[in-house]
Amino acid sequence: MGKGARRGGSRGSARARRSIGASGPPLGALSHTPDRTEWRGGREFVVRTLRGNSEGRVYRCPGCHQELASAVPHYVVWPHDGMLGVEDRRHWHTRCWEIG
Ligand SMILES: [Zn+2]
Repeated sequence: MGKGARRGGSRGSARARRSIGASGPPLGALSHTPDRTEWRGGREFVVRTLRGNSEGRVYRCPGCHQELASAVPHYVVWPHDGMLGVEDRRHWHTRCWEIG
């Protein structure tokens, strides 16, 4: 029971399903807050909150086209239907995503 509900019914109720022993998240460990999803422009996106880390990487925010250091808490956003493609992920300033 419970198998297959993850991709099929993408209508909001599926994401409440977070039972122990279920297939894990596709993008690594849970060292962050739980992902949520948001609708933008008719597409569903997964939004992950990162607290910031010391990797020293710099990303380009698609909202303001400014640099975004990995040390700053920010969002990583990718299309819900494209979650296997790492290159589909975008790093956003939290403010830029929220006003978007
Ligand atoms: Zn920005």
